[in-house]
Amino acid sequence: MTTPFFFVFRSQADATFGKPVYGEEKWAHRYGRAELGPKCFYETIKCPEYVAHMRSGKRLTDLQVILSSDNIGDLVWSWSNDCIITERVRQLLQAQDFRGYITRPVEVIKIKKKAKTIMTELPSLWELVVTGSGGVIHEASGVRLKYTCDKCGLRRYSNPTQDGILVDNNQWDGTDFFRVEPYGYILVSERVKEFISHNNLVNCALFDSTKFTFAKSFL
Ligand SMILES: [Zn+2]
Repeated sequence: MTTPFFFVFRSQADATFGKPVYGEEKWAHRYGRAELGPKCFYETIKCPEYVAHMRSGKRLTDLQVILSSDNIGDLVWSWSNDCIITERVRQLLQAQDFRGYITRPVEVIKIKKKAKTIMTELPSLWELVVTGSGGVIHEASGVRLKYTCDKCGLRRYSNPTQDGILVDNNQWDGTDFFRVEPYGYILVSERVKEFISHNNLVNCALFDSTKFTFAKSFL
Protein backbone atom coordinates (compact mmCIF):
# COMPACT_ATOMS: atom_id res chain seq x y z
CA MET A 1 0.00 0.00 0.00
CA THR A 2 1.28 3.44 -0.89
CA THR A 3 1.23 6.20 1.70
CA PRO A 4 -1.75 8.45 1.04
CA PHE A 5 -1.27 12.17 0.52
CA PHE A 6 -3.58 14.66 2.13
CA PHE A 7 -4.30 18.31 1.52
CA VAL A 8 -5.48 21.10 3.77
CA PHE A 9 -8.65 22.52 2.21
CA ARG A 10 -9.32 26.09 3.17
CA SER A 11 -10.75 29.41 2.13
CA GLN A 12 -7.70 31.32 0.97
CA ALA A 13 -4.45 30.70 -0.86
CA ASP A 14 -2.81 32.65 1.92
CA ALA A 15 0.98 32.41 1.54
CA THR A 16 1.53 32.50 5.31
CA PHE A 17 0.60 28.81 5.30
CA GLY A 18 3.12 27.95 2.60
CA LYS A 19 2.81 27.63 -1.14
CA PRO A 20 -0.67 26.45 -2.11
CA VAL A 21 -0.93 23.59 -4.60
CA TYR A 22 -4.24 25.02 -5.77
CA GLY A 23 -6.04 28.36 -5.50
CA GLU A 24 -5.42 32.04 -6.23
CA GLU A 25 -4.84 34.71 -3.62
CA LYS A 26 -6.99 37.25 -5.50
CA TRP A 27 -10.12 35.15 -4.94
CA ALA A 28 -10.19 36.21 -1.29
CA HIS A 29 -10.63 39.85 -2.36
CA ARG A 30 -13.03 39.10 -5.17
CA TYR A 31 -15.37 36.97 -3.09
CA GLY A 32 -16.17 38.28 0.35
CA ARG A 33 -16.97 36.19 3.36
CA ALA A 34 -20.45 35.46 4.61
CA GLU A 35 -21.61 36.68 8.00
CA LEU A 36 -23.68 34.44 10.21
CA GLY A 37 -27.31 35.36 10.64
CA PRO A 38 -28.96 35.87 14.06
CA LYS A 39 -30.57 32.44 14.02
CA CYS A 40 -27.41 30.34 14.17
CA PHE A 41 -27.59 28.73 17.60
CA TYR A 42 -24.91 26.62 19.18
CA GLU A 43 -24.96 24.06 21.93
CA THR A 44 -23.36 25.23 25.17
CA ILE A 45 -21.20 22.64 26.90
CA LYS A 46 -21.18 23.24 30.65
CA CYS A 47 -18.84 21.43 32.96
CA PRO A 48 -20.45 20.33 36.25
CA GLU A 49 -17.14 20.97 38.02
CA TYR A 50 -15.26 23.85 36.38
CA VAL A 51 -16.95 27.03 35.12
CA ALA A 52 -13.91 27.81 32.95
CA HIS A 53 -14.60 24.70 30.86
CA MET A 54 -17.77 26.21 29.43
CA ARG A 55 -17.61 26.38 25.66
CA SER A 56 -19.81 26.25 22.62
CA GLY A 57 -20.28 22.94 20.90
CA LYS A 58 -22.17 21.90 17.80
CA ARG A 59 -24.43 24.22 15.88
CA LEU A 60 -28.03 23.22 16.56
CA THR A 61 -29.54 24.97 13.55
CA ASP A 62 -28.90 25.01 9.84
CA LEU A 63 -26.54 27.74 8.72
CA GLN A 64 -28.12 31.14 8.16
CA VAL A 65 -25.96 33.70 6.36
CA ILE A 66 -25.68 37.26 5.11
CA LEU A 67 -23.72 37.31 1.84
CA SER A 68 -21.37 40.22 1.22
CA SER A 69 -22.41 40.35 -2.45
CA ASP A 70 -24.16 38.37 -5.14
CA ASN A 71 -20.81 37.72 -6.79
CA ILE A 72 -20.18 34.24 -5.49
CA GLY A 73 -17.71 31.58 -6.48
CA ASP A 74 -18.18 27.83 -6.39
CA LEU A 75 -17.52 28.04 -2.67
CA VAL A 76 -18.42 30.61 -0.04
CA TRP A 77 -16.77 30.73 3.37
CA SER A 78 -18.23 32.26 6.49
CA TRP A 79 -16.15 34.34 8.90
CA SER A 80 -16.13 31.29 11.15
CA ASN A 81 -14.81 29.13 8.30
CA ASP A 82 -18.01 27.25 7.57
CA CYS A 83 -17.68 25.76 4.09
CA ILE A 84 -20.57 26.56 1.76
CA ILE A 85 -21.01 25.16 -1.75
CA THR A 86 -23.32 25.97 -4.62
CA GLU A 87 -25.97 23.58 -5.90
CA ARG A 88 -23.77 22.92 -8.94
CA VAL A 89 -20.84 21.82 -6.76
CA ARG A 90 -23.14 19.69 -4.64
CA GLN A 91 -24.29 17.85 -7.75
CA LEU A 92 -20.72 17.42 -8.95
CA LEU A 93 -19.81 15.99 -5.54
CA GLN A 94 -22.81 13.68 -5.52
CA ALA A 95 -21.63 12.13 -8.78
CA GLN A 96 -18.51 11.01 -6.91
CA ASP A 97 -18.32 8.44 -4.15
CA PHE A 98 -16.48 10.63 -1.66
CA ARG A 99 -16.96 9.82 1.99
CA GLY A 100 -16.74 11.94 5.12
CA TYR A 101 -19.23 14.74 4.50
CA ILE A 102 -22.90 15.57 4.47
CA THR A 103 -24.66 18.63 3.10
CA ARG A 104 -27.13 20.81 4.98
CA PRO A 105 -29.27 23.62 3.54
CA VAL A 106 -28.10 27.21 3.95
CA GLU A 107 -30.56 30.03 4.34
CA VAL A 108 -29.48 33.34 2.78
CA ILE A 109 -31.28 36.12 4.62
CA LYS A 110 -29.61 39.10 2.99
CA ILE A 111 -27.19 40.11 0.25
CA LYS A 112 -25.31 43.26 1.21
CA LYS A 113 -24.17 44.41 -2.21
CA LYS A 114 -25.97 43.51 -5.37
CA ALA A 115 -23.58 44.07 -8.23
CA LYS A 116 -25.38 42.28 -10.98
CA THR A 117 -27.54 44.58 -13.05
CA ILE A 118 -29.67 41.77 -14.43
CA MET A 119 -31.47 40.06 -11.60
CA THR A 120 -30.63 36.43 -11.77
CA GLU A 121 -31.78 34.05 -9.15
CA LEU A 122 -29.18 33.15 -6.59
CA PRO A 123 -28.24 29.48 -6.67
CA SER A 124 -29.22 27.36 -3.70
CA LEU A 125 -26.38 27.08 -1.23
CA TRP A 126 -25.42 24.14 0.92
CA GLU A 127 -23.14 23.73 3.86
CA LEU A 128 -20.48 21.07 3.43
CA VAL A 129 -20.28 19.48 6.86
CA VAL A 130 -17.18 17.37 7.42
CA THR A 131 -17.93 14.14 9.30
CA GLY A 132 -14.73 12.13 8.73
CA SER A 133 -12.05 11.72 11.37
CA GLY A 134 -8.31 11.39 11.28
CA GLY A 135 -8.09 10.94 15.05
CA VAL A 136 -5.45 13.03 16.74
CA ILE A 137 -2.58 14.64 14.82
CA HIS A 138 0.43 12.32 14.37
CA GLU A 139 2.77 12.29 17.37
CA ALA A 140 5.63 13.38 15.09
CA SER A 141 4.01 16.85 15.24
CA GLY A 142 5.07 17.08 18.86
CA VAL A 143 1.47 17.58 19.98
CA ARG A 144 0.63 15.72 23.16
CA LEU A 145 -2.57 15.32 25.14
CA LYS A 146 -1.92 17.19 28.37
CA TYR A 147 -5.24 17.15 30.14
CA THR A 148 -8.66 15.53 29.94
CA CYS A 149 -11.58 16.57 32.10
CA ASP A 150 -13.46 13.44 33.08
CA LYS A 151 -16.54 15.52 33.91
CA CYS A 152 -17.11 17.28 30.57
CA GLY A 153 -14.62 15.74 28.17
CA LEU A 154 -12.55 18.89 27.61
CA ARG A 155 -9.10 18.03 26.28
CA ARG A 156 -6.01 20.20 26.22
CA TYR A 157 -3.01 19.54 24.00
CA SER A 158 0.51 20.92 23.85
CA ASN A 159 1.48 23.06 20.87
CA PRO A 160 3.03 21.58 17.72
CA THR A 161 6.81 21.64 17.54
CA GLN A 162 6.88 21.33 13.77
CA ASP A 163 4.83 22.29 10.74
CA GLY A 164 2.47 20.04 8.83
CA ILE A 165 -0.95 18.70 9.73
CA LEU A 166 0.47 15.21 10.00
CA VAL A 167 -2.03 12.38 9.67
CA ASP A 168 -1.58 9.15 11.56
CA ASN A 169 -2.81 6.58 9.03
CA ASN A 170 -3.65 4.16 11.83
CA GLN A 171 -6.18 6.60 13.26
CA TRP A 172 -7.59 7.91 9.94
CA ASP A 173 -11.02 6.43 9.16
CA GLY A 174 -10.33 6.29 5.41
CA THR A 175 -12.69 9.15 4.52
CA ASP A 176 -12.07 11.81 1.86
CA PHE A 177 -13.07 14.76 4.08
CA PHE A 178 -11.89 14.75 7.68
CA ARG A 179 -10.24 16.67 10.49
CA VAL A 180 -7.55 15.82 12.97
CA GLU A 181 -7.77 16.82 16.60
CA PRO A 182 -7.21 19.34 18.00
CA TYR A 183 -7.46 21.49 14.88
CA GLY A 184 -10.33 22.81 12.82
CA TYR A 185 -8.63 22.50 9.43
CA ILE A 186 -10.42 20.42 6.81
CA LEU A 187 -8.25 17.74 5.25
CA VAL A 188 -9.05 16.06 1.95
CA SER A 189 -7.79 13.04 0.07
CA GLU A 190 -5.80 13.17 -3.14
CA ARG A 191 -8.97 12.19 -5.04
CA VAL A 192 -10.76 15.28 -3.74
CA LYS A 193 -7.78 17.42 -4.71
CA GLU A 194 -7.99 16.00 -8.26
CA PHE A 195 -11.74 16.65 -8.29
CA ILE A 196 -11.30 20.29 -7.22
CA SER A 197 -8.55 21.05 -9.72
CA HIS A 198 -10.24 19.13 -12.55
CA ASN A 199 -13.43 21.16 -12.05
CA ASN A 200 -11.50 24.41 -11.48
CA LEU A 201 -13.54 25.19 -8.39
CA VAL A 202 -13.21 28.87 -7.59
CA ASN A 203 -12.71 30.39 -4.14
CA CYS A 204 -10.89 27.70 -2.21
CA ALA A 205 -7.29 26.64 -1.71
CA LEU A 206 -5.35 23.44 -1.15
CA PHE A 207 -2.03 23.01 0.63
CA ASP A 208 0.17 19.93 0.94
CA SER A 209 -0.74 18.91 4.50
CA THR A 210 2.83 17.89 5.36
CA LYS A 211 4.14 21.35 4.40
CA PHE A 212 1.35 23.42 5.92
CA THR A 213 3.17 26.10 7.94
CA PHE A 214 0.91 26.64 10.89
CA ALA A 215 3.11 25.88 13.91
CA LYS A 216 4.46 29.44 14.18
CA SER A 217 0.98 30.71 14.98
CA PHE A 218 1.37 28.97 18.36
CA LEU A 219 4.65 30.70 19.23
ZN1 LIG B 1 -14.73 19.95 32.67
